[in-house]
Amino acid sequence: MSRVDLRERIRQGLFLLDGAMGTQLIARGAEGGKCNDYLNIESPDIIFGIHQAYLEAGSDAVLTNTFGANKCALKRHGLAEKVEDINKAAARIARKATGDDKYVLGDIGPSGDFLEPLGSLKPEELKDAFAEQASVFSAAGVDGLIIETMTALDEVEIAVEAVKSVCELPVFVSFAFDRAGGDFRTMMGVSVESAVSKAVSLGVDVVGFNCGTATLDEYTELAGKYVSAVKQLGKNVLIFAEPNAGKPELVEDRVVYNVSPEDFAAAAEKIHSAGVNIIGGCCGTSPEYIEAVAKRLRK
Ligand SMILES: [Zn+2]
Repeated sequence: MSRVDLRERIRQGLFLLDGAMGTQLIARGAEGGKCNDYLNIESPDIIFGIHQAYLEAGSDAVLTNTFGANKCALKRHGLAEKVEDINKAAARIARKATGDDKYVLGDIGPSGDFLEPLGSLKPEELKDAFAEQASVFSAAGVDGLIIETMTALDEVEIAVEAVKSVCELPVFVSFAFDRAGGDFRTMMGVSVESAVSKAVSLGVDVVGFNCGTATLDEYTELAGKYVSAVKQLGKNVLIFAEPNAGKPELVEDRVVYNVSPEDFAAAAEKIHSAGVNIIGGCCGTSPEYIEAVAKRLRK
């Protein structure tokens, strides 16, 4: 059975994304500290195996292994000329895993720098980088794009406009929030209301959150805030949530996540009840977490 259009499918109810890529890479023998995105070319079998594990666990979609595969980020590894090769390879591996039934989302991460005068990026340079990555994904036949882990509104604006200038694929945008006092803010000080209203005004299909340093209870609260913010705008925009496996803790010099798949699934159920139908996981999650969510929510 072949998949229906992604825009239609995400309006039909629960839609599960995948979980973390980075920790799975290390678990499968990839060397830390190298360019993970280059593994699409160097070790495609490792990436394919991770996608396959998530699909078997119950994911409806997988994200390509391209978090740092825009020109600005690849430049830091001396791989600025490899944008097309890396993203094309990543899309091909993901599609090989999903076949015709499941969905591939082309993953677009942050530039890793800031726009002038805070950083060294010029707006045109940033726009070209996102447009280039989106063009490769579009030509490679992905079902949608996910612009993720954003913290600055100016970068989000440029990213969404850039991808929309080269294709008509559905666009997901997520922000990374931390708990700041009684409220949630991105690293750049953006509130939930500003993030949601900016993304909605740019015409994205789905707005969400991922990563961050919140506890599962805080992620549940954050989901509620997203639902209210979207409702307040009166727009028919969907919401997605990709929490971490709870709050990261530093043990010796390693970051660890101490939440079990069952606890994660319980939080996912609350997030789902709050009105969020598109759910996955970020740092610290694995196929076991997605499987626990699938078991709990697909009764
Ligand atoms: Zn994360």
